[in-house]
Amino acid sequence: MERCEGYYRLENRRCDRAGSRRVTATDGETYAVCEYHARQGWAASVARWHGESDVRASAPADLRRGLDSAA
Ligand SMILES: [Zn+2]
Repeated sequence: MERCEGYYRLENRRCDRAGSRRVTATDGETYAVCEYHARQGWAASVARWHGESDVRASAPADLRRGLDSAA
């Protein structure tokens, strides 16, 4: 399973959990996130990453409130 794309802004690091859910961020992109980040909703941030690494590949985006998709 791919890694969660959740981003911890305060700690400037990537989430270590597995990304089992899909959510849409304010940039209109869909991100893989863990159950925790899916529940965080609008309070969570996501970003693109280089593969499964901790190297961030895009600016962080916020999740959209209530637009968690099951796909
Ligand atoms: Zn996560």
